[in-house]
Amino acid sequence: LPRTGLARFAGPGPRTGRVPVGIGGRRQRIVVTGGAGFVGSHLVDKLIARGDDVIVIDNFFTGRKENLVHLFGNPRFELIRHDVVEPILLEVDQIYHLACPASPVHYKYNPVKTIKTNVMGTLNMLGLAKRIGARFLLTSTSEVYGDPLEHPQKETYWGNVNPIGERSCYDEGKRTAETLAMDYHRGAGVEVRIARIFNTYGPRMCLDDGRVVSNFVAQAIRKQPLTVYGDGKQTRSFQYVSDLVNGLVALMESEHVGPFNLGNPGEFTMLELAQVVKETIDSSATIEYKPNTADDPHMRKPDISKAKELLNWEPKIPLREGLPLMVNDFRNRILNEDEGKGM
Ligand code: NAD
Ligand code: UDP
Ligand code: UDP
Repeated sequence: LPRTGLARFAGPGPRTGRVPVGIGGRRQRIVVTGGAGFVGSHLVDKLIARGDDVIVIDNFFTGRKENLVHLFGNPRFELIRHDVVEPILLEVDQIYHLACPASPVHYKYNPVKTIKTNVMGTLNMLGLAKRIGARFLLTSTSEVYGDPLEHPQKETYWGNVNPIGERSCYDEGKRTAETLAMDYHRGAGVEVRIARIFNTYGPRMCLDDGRVVSNFVAQAIRKQPLTVYGDGKQTRSFQYVSDLVNGLVALMESEHVGPFNLGNPGEFTMLELAQVVKETIDSSATIEYKPNTADDPHMRKPDISKAKELLNWEPKIPLREGLPLMVNDFRNRILNEDEGKGM
């Protein structure tokens, strides 16, 4: 008998033979919370292409229908406007839980809402997973390592997080979400998977979400100076979105709980990133220094040996190849924005 939930409720799905049918030939029903957002919409595309039925739950706080509009009318796709802080009843095989603003500007906008989303939202999705016997994947974050005292960061590192700072609603929220996932796993036997995602970029990022890659790319296209915060010597490691999506699916389909770091170990200072953006978009772009934000982590780089060994996964697209892949999308949206303003 199939181990996962759906068969118990609805029996095996229809087999037309015309579409690819999910993993191992069985078509699955999958929920993606936050599926109208940047990462979620790319994940949904992959699952639909694989032949699965996908239900997106999103409250459109930072997500956009435009990210999914190409799927409207597809009978295997469904979009529900819903806030994960409220309970919901569904019958599915797998839950990818992404709902949560990811940009510091967005998550600091209403910090209490951010922590409610992380805690109550994750609790509801775990309660759902428990009731229907679905497998549950949490998109946690490298922010659980805080301003790390270990470099690069391994999954065994417990982190250096300020519990009362401006970033805590997100960092501590995700740490609690991981705790909840492990407690549902140990206490209720829910099959959980935990991914710790490092900085990810690509098409469909919000234009003005304040993250460094989207800021620099939009600024270079708009012929504005690139805003470097602080001295620009802080580092991040940037992963292209398709690599992340492949990692999330590999983790969900694996037999390993995790946590797993999913990130690209290629590490750059913000000044080096600005240089790559200049080379890619506009060599005449200038730099403007601005004060840094509170509690900004000084460095971040994943140790991905665990994911390499157990998931057989590693990122394929270095920054210099990935950046050009988002420029057309950004150019088109900035152009539409300008036309909308009558410019
Ligand atoms: P995003 O802001 O583009 O997407 C988040 C989505 O969640 C949006 O569609 C938003 O409307 C939805 N959402 C937010 N609160 C909700 C709520 N209460 N109920 C229902 N929907 C809600 O961000 P993203 O970059 O796509 O990130 C997706 C996930 O990956 C997040 O959980 C984030 O913490 C995690 N993550 C992302 C990165 C990254 O670099 N992109 C890094 C680490 C972790
Ligand atoms: N929940 C949900 N959908 C379900 C099952 C549970 O949204 O199909 C929510 C439920 O409302 C609760 C949370 O998940 O707030 C945790 O559920 P659980 O059954 O684990 O705990 P309890 O309801 O006993 O507190
Ligand atoms: N940053 C920057 N210029 C910007 C936006 C961000 O120099 O316009 C810096 C920021 O201070 C941080 C790094 O870029 O050190 C990454 O910031 P982001 O918000 O993208 O992600 P996170 O801090 O969550 O890793």
